[in-house]
Amino acid sequence: MTGPAGAPPGAADVAIIGAGVVGTAIARELARYDLSIVVVDAATDVGTGTTKANTAILHTGFDAVPGSLESRLLRRGSALLRDYATRSGIPVERTGALLVAWTDEQRRALPEIEEKARQNGYTAIRPVSAAGLYQREPHLGPGALAGLEIPDEGVICPWTTPLAYARESMSGTTNLAVFLPFLDDSSFLARLLGSIDLIFIWWMLSLAIGLGVLYRKRTGPIATTMFALYAAIAVIIAAIKTASTGV
Ligand SMILES: Cc1cc2nc3c(=O)[nH]c(=O)nc-3n(C[C@H](O)[C@H](O)[C@H](O)COP(=O)(O)OP(=O)(O)OC[C@H]3O[C@@H](n4cnc5c(N)ncnc54)[C@H](O)[C@@H]3O)c2cc1C
Repeated sequence: MTGPAGAPPGAADVAIIGAGVVGTAIARELARYDLSIVVVDAATDVGTGTTKANTAILHTGFDAVPGSLESRLLRRGSALLRDYATRSGIPVERTGALLVAWTDEQRRALPEIEEKARQNGYTAIRPVSAAGLYQREPHLGPGALAGLEIPDEGVICPWTTPLAYARESMSGTTNLAVFLPFLDDSSFLARLLGSIDLIFIWWMLSLAIGLGVLYRKRTGPIATTMFALYAAIAVIIAAIKTASTGV
């Protein structure tokens, strides 16, 4: 990725302040475009602010104000994040939630909350009797009067999510070519180094160690074979790219 035309070296098209879940999600989205992006944080790692300390709830948005922007975003965000988590290995669990009424006033409010959920497009919500609550959660303290079950509420790992976003947004900058920025981008060497990704090498090393333990073999030869194969593929890719552009 290069900086904006005419800008001093090191300049970026976009600067994102804050590497929490929001900043890293923006970086991941923008990384799909031909932009140079820098994420700046006062801390030394991603997700060290509010992101790391939240309750980890992946919320359906059933109780948001119907018709509000929050309601729309919660519904869409919940579906998108659940799908992304499943694909990218972020720990996520559909635990379901129970909304418990402990007073008569709270019990009288339940039908209104249920109606609100339906207006928000969430129709899986259902009333639960006191007996039903204790059946679902035997450790519930005494005195529950009635409740609502929201089967699609869940929990999601607050740490892995920004890490996954950050990792994906950097996938173009973890290759060996970033260590030699003075190389001509169209040269064979730049393309070769650009095809070798450090994170992929780290994964291969972990895999080689795992295979060594599993099959009781020495890690060195397994890792060397994998690296040799990877290097051969990188050479072929670089050669094809160089040949196809005639440089
Ligand atoms: C107690 C609690 C429970 C919550 N529970 C949930 C939940 O269950 N489910 C849910 O979805 N949401 C929950 N939230 C909300 C959610 O955690 C936040 O909306 C989310 O983490 C905000 O992410 P962020 O990236 O905007 O902020 P942050 O994670 O705070 O990131 C901001 C980053 O910006 C950096 N920064 C700030 N100022 C500067 C500066 N001037 N220069 C450089 N860097 C700077 C900080 O170091 C920080 O890393 C909860 C929030 C709280 C407080």
